[in-house]
Amino acid sequence: MAFADDSILVLLDVMPSGELAKSAAGLLGAAASVGTPVALIVSDADSVGAAAGALGAPSVLVAPAVSDQLTVPVVDALAAAADLVRPDAILISNSVEGRDVAGRYAARSRSGLCADVVGVSRDAEGVVAHHSVYGGAYNVDASVTWGAPVITVRQGAIEARADAVESPSVETLTVAPSGKRAASIDKIDAAVVTSSRPELRGAGKVVSGGRGLGSQEKFALVEQLADVLGAAVGASRAAVDAGYVPQSYQVGQTGVSVSPQLYVALGISGAIQHKAGMQTAKTIVAINKDGDAPIFEIADFGVVGDLFTVVPQLIAALEARKA
Ligand code: FAD
Repeated sequence: MAFADDSILVLLDVMPSGELAKSAAGLLGAAASVGTPVALIVSDADSVGAAAGALGAPSVLVAPAVSDQLTVPVVDALAAAADLVRPDAILISNSVEGRDVAGRYAARSRSGLCADVVGVSRDAEGVVAHHSVYGGAYNVDASVTWGAPVITVRQGAIEARADAVESPSVETLTVAPSGKRAASIDKIDAAVVTSSRPELRGAGKVVSGGRGLGSQEKFALVEQLADVLGAAVGASRAAVDAGYVPQSYQVGQTGVSVSPQLYVALGISGAIQHKAGMQTAKTIVAINKDGDAPIFEIADFGVVGDLFTVVPQLIAALEARKA
């Protein structure tokens, strides 16, 4: 397989079910905006090549999965793919697995690493990474001065999508194991998720609740609004600390970073640590009884009022539109 001079190598995460992770579409969209995507997938599933093509990868390299070792086999595959493709940049999801691979690969290959990027572009010297930092208060552009940058892309941050490729060229990648020490996987227990709601990370819409909800029982109002909107449910740390919801719901500096099209903040004051995880949302709606709450500084739409009065009316209005 010959690779274009402007190739962008894109490592796509694979879910335990064998499907490509949701982040794949944004990664390939970002790659196509700055060059020619070459997807790398570490998987034994037959369908992944066609799936990557449908998301815009004209070339796909598939490396066999090594199911009893963590991370190192993926880094080995990435090293083999980078040697073959000689890309202008390497894009990886900013997922837990992606960050692990990116850090190890960058250290191993002495590449520059740009982490948690919300966009990419190209200038005369190469690929530029765009970061949103300090809770979204500053935008920072970063580029590396040697070699291909390794870039981890925040899930949900990229809107661009690449055109589907009907018959991508799919090749099996030969990977020589590096023999580097790896944690071994004894067993995987799938946690049964009973929720029909979208996953918080990478969701297109998020409704979050804060301490203003007052109790675990009343937090159900957040879930009701989320369900009417088809949104994921998030929370502030104060709501998590108060036990209204599990920690996995926390949005912010020490929780999940989200970049949805719509973020609705209910009874959340808008502390800097909360904003750090949601300020890149496209449209922010805040409902808070305190008109001076900092969340209104970044909200596109705000309602100053008691959420227990406003939200039921909002739900009723949305349901009436659906009917
Ligand atoms: P509060 O600040 O108490 O705000 C509650 C809001 O609800 C108020 O604005 C109030 O006016 C409003 N309200 C109350 N009743 C109603 C009502 N009936 N109707 C409408 N509005 C009402 N926080 C995070 O969220 N995520 C993080 O990842 C995070 N990481 C942190 C890391 C560090 C190192 C530190 C020090 C802090 C971190 N925090 C984080 C905590 C953060 O500083 C805030 O304490 C937290 O975000 C506050 O949550 P809150 O807005 O729900 O609560």
